[in-house]
Amino acid sequence: MVMHISTHALVNNTFRLPCTAQTLYDISQEDDLAALLSLLGDTPYRVISAGSNVLCALPHVGAVVRLGIKGIDLLRTDEDAHIVRVGAGEVWHDTVLHTIAQGWFGLENLALIPGWVGAAPVQNIGAYGVELCDVLHNVRAWDTNTLKFVDLSAQQCEFGYRDSVFKRSRNRYLITNVTFRLPRPWRPTVHYGELAQRFAGATPHETPSALAIAQTVMAIRQRKLPDPALIPNAGSFFKNPVVSGAEAKRLLAQFPSMPCYPYADGINKLAAGWLIEQAGWKGYIRDLNPGKVGVHSAQALVLVHLGGAQGTDLLKLASDIQTDVLQKFGIVLEREVNVWE
Ligand code: FAD
Ligand code: NAP
Repeated sequence: MVMHISTHALVNNTFRLPCTAQTLYDISQEDDLAALLSLLGDTPYRVISAGSNVLCALPHVGAVVRLGIKGIDLLRTDEDAHIVRVGAGEVWHDTVLHTIAQGWFGLENLALIPGWVGAAPVQNIGAYGVELCDVLHNVRAWDTNTLKFVDLSAQQCEFGYRDSVFKRSRNRYLITNVTFRLPRPWRPTVHYGELAQRFAGATPHETPSALAIAQTVMAIRQRKLPDPALIPNAGSFFKNPVVSGAEAKRLLAQFPSMPCYPYADGINKLAAGWLIEQAGWKGYIRDLNPGKVGVHSAQALVLVHLGGAQGTDLLKLASDIQTDVLQKFGIVLEREVNVWE
């Protein structure tokens, strides 16, 4: 058995909020799961990977499980795709770079998203026009309801915008491996915002490589997003609101410059960051004495911990922003970050 158990351990989280687990269980192979769960019995537990999408609003929690299973394996190459299985404990960005180096393309738009591979299906990570569900073959997980391993197809994962069956049925599934279906032939996805600007005018002979796309995404992200190692944050705090056509029309009549993207039939996606910025919160700092929290000065969708604060301080700031955006635009902002409270 390869399980590491620590007591009174600090829970890693990129908001750098103080949180201690009574017991932290580190698993590095699938075979240990059954032993872990019999050890836990009825004790409730939480799951964490790299902690880049979690807000710990409790200073102490009970049991925490981390699934650090490693390995990146090409299972087979079909006529239309490379089928690649990756352990839940692999670092997401390293996996993106590794697959590109092997000539298995498709993850390049998702470069530099923090976190581990096992957490990626939880909110169906997405950026620059690609979502995990576009390249997912299946997810292997331990189902704590049936006490069996399951291999869930993309359809069974019930993916939505920053959403999945894993996010909705919290802690039911412990994800151990994610298998990708990386397309052959591969085609670049560069229709999106700044990526489109960067590659506009490329002739058919200049089709950007997967590496060039990854490097461009990395450069844009490094310019626009706060590095959690320097300014603690958990990325976008809120989801982009999805509204009806009528609602979008109402808002556009009042705010003609408001970004609004078609999402599905008769449904539109708004930019939560724009709404928060227009409401005047961009760059806002709340000095709590002790502790400071705020809204990042380059990206209003990112809440930041500027030191010495508690998770509840960030929750209060988030709630004030939600109230203000509701009053000003009539739009309800939903949290994207997973809150431990
Ligand atoms: P954690 O934060 O540790 O966990 C997230 C959730 O998944 C928790 O609810 C946890 O219980 C659950 N979980 C974790 N591992 C498992 C497992 N093995 N089995 C079952 N459940 C599990 N997200 C995007 O979608 N697109 C972006 O572009 C993006 N950019 C970001 C930029 C920054 C600067 C930051 C800080 C975050 C960003 N995020 C983005 C959010 C975050 O990186 C992703 O959600 C990422 O997948 C979280 O990975 P993690 O390992 O940190 O997960
Ligand atoms: P951006 O390019 O400034 O765009 C602002 C918002 O408008 C984004 O949230 C994006 O929605 C939407 N958008 C822009 N162009 C679009 C298009 N052509 N079609 C549909 N929607 C469009 O955003 P950004 O903050 O710099 O982020 C860039 C990308 O990285 C986005 O995809 C964003 O989701 C992702 N990101 C995510 C997180 C996170 O924690 N979840 C953090 C940082 C960045 P979408 O978000 O739906 O793409």
